[in-house]
Amino acid sequence: MEVTGWGRFPKITAEIFEPADSQSLQKFLSSQNKSSKCISRGAGRSYGDSSLAAQLLSSRFLDNFLDLDEDRKTVRCGSGISLGDILKVCIPRGLFLNVLPGTKQVSLGGAIAADVHGKNHHRDGSFCDSVESISLVLASGELVSCSRNENADLFRSTCAGMGLTGVIVDATLTLQKISSTYIKQECLVANNLQESFDLIEANNDSMYSVAWLDCLSQGQELGRSLLYLGEHAEANNRKTDLKFRSRRGLSVPFSTPAFLLNKTTMTLFNNSYFALKKNSSGQSILDYDNYFFPLDNIRNWNRLYGAKGFLQYQFVMPSNSALEGMAAVLKKVADLGMGSFLTVLKKFGEENENLLSFPKQGYTLTLDFKQQPSLFPLLEELDQIVLDHSGRIYLAKDARMSETVFKACYPNWEEFVNIKCKYDPNGRFASLQSDRLGLS
Ligand SMILES: Cc1cc2nc3c(=O)[nH]c(=O)nc-3n(C[C@H](O)[C@H](O)[C@H](O)COP(=O)(O)OP(=O)(O)OC[C@H]3O[C@@H](n4cnc5c(N)ncnc54)[C@H](O)[C@@H]3O)c2cc1C
Repeated sequence: MEVTGWGRFPKITAEIFEPADSQSLQKFLSSQNKSSKCISRGAGRSYGDSSLAAQLLSSRFLDNFLDLDEDRKTVRCGSGISLGDILKVCIPRGLFLNVLPGTKQVSLGGAIAADVHGKNHHRDGSFCDSVESISLVLASGELVSCSRNENADLFRSTCAGMGLTGVIVDATLTLQKISSTYIKQECLVANNLQESFDLIEANNDSMYSVAWLDCLSQGQELGRSLLYLGEHAEANNRKTDLKFRSRRGLSVPFSTPAFLLNKTTMTLFNNSYFALKKNSSGQSILDYDNYFFPLDNIRNWNRLYGAKGFLQYQFVMPSNSALEGMAAVLKKVADLGMGSFLTVLKKFGEENENLLSFPKQGYTLTLDFKQQPSLFPLLEELDQIVLDHSGRIYLAKDARMSETVFKACYPNWEEFVNIKCKYDPNGRFASLQSDRLGLS
């Protein structure tokens, strides 16, 4: 069948094996030719080609809920469960995931394999910092466990390992206690990039922090943004204090004609959004679903970029070079009018020990671009700016980075490849992305 990532680029034809349990997965891997290649696939919410290969191993039916220890605040689940389904069970018990990406529709396995981050990286790190242990099936078909104390090398390379060490079948996570699912939000306005950085720094104690940036503003207003801060609200004895919510609002029924996405319409959207929200800035109370997952309210929003799909480009730069580097990126994008609806700026805290984790201390910027031939030379220019400022590009969003750029921004790639060879000596786990980046 035809499969793509969330960006709908590239498209390939693949066979999908959907094991019902870990035993059938073990049987499948041990009965196959030792050189046959495959890659895990969760919910297909990575944007590019990291979960694409001719043979896919889907975790769709590995979605069981295995254990919840309310005293220890831990949960153990199958890798195919979505973060939304974990919240559904945990929220009524006053428990919540420590780190949430911008959609609750990712699988637990996908969240671990990309070591995803949320709006609180500056305080709480990334998803795998809350992972206690992982069970995975290796290329040989053997089922093994790993944690910081057991098979530690396998743990450090499975967390953020993009499915290249084995198939995660279940994992145990630590949770946080909450008394309410409401979020106290404050929206602040920054009139340029320097002000955006200053506001984020001044509010470093805020638990959640994310800025929406007008990527097409130029000159004195380059990098103007709306900063959304958030804290968990206290319980208010409302019936709804610990209520799971999942809204599924409008759906985009078909791909938007690509010609509608041009410099004029993008500028109009960015200007109107900034003006509208600027006027309603200040404090408000939101439920967590609206605060963390606003995009989940629009089903199939990835069709808005047209039938050829789109690419998301996310990079991080260290604090000392981020202002200059991001100004250079934004200027290039604004000059060409190739901007996006969703340009997001966040602060990252310290990096962790996982060999291919994306976050490192500094700032991260995310931009969406319609897929078109003129985009690829632009992204190559942006890669160079990122490298010149000691930055790194996110694998979960990537569909086109070169091997040279990858190896320059992920200094632990060689150690990763050595550990992969130890656990997968025939190089059976490979995706389109890992082949392109020289990881398989
Ligand atoms: C709207 C939206 C918002 C997002 N916001 C954020 C964000 O704020 N922060 C962030 O970090 N990311 C974000 N992402 C990216 C997303 O969280 C990651 O790409 C995540 O990895 C997707 O998980 P998935 O289950 O869809 O995995 P897939 O896309 O199916 O796979 C992603 C990678 O995980 C591997 N994998 C999947 N399952 C397993 C398994 N069982 N065992 C081993 N490897 C496995 C795959 O091989 C592949 O390499 C966002 C994505 C979308 C669509």
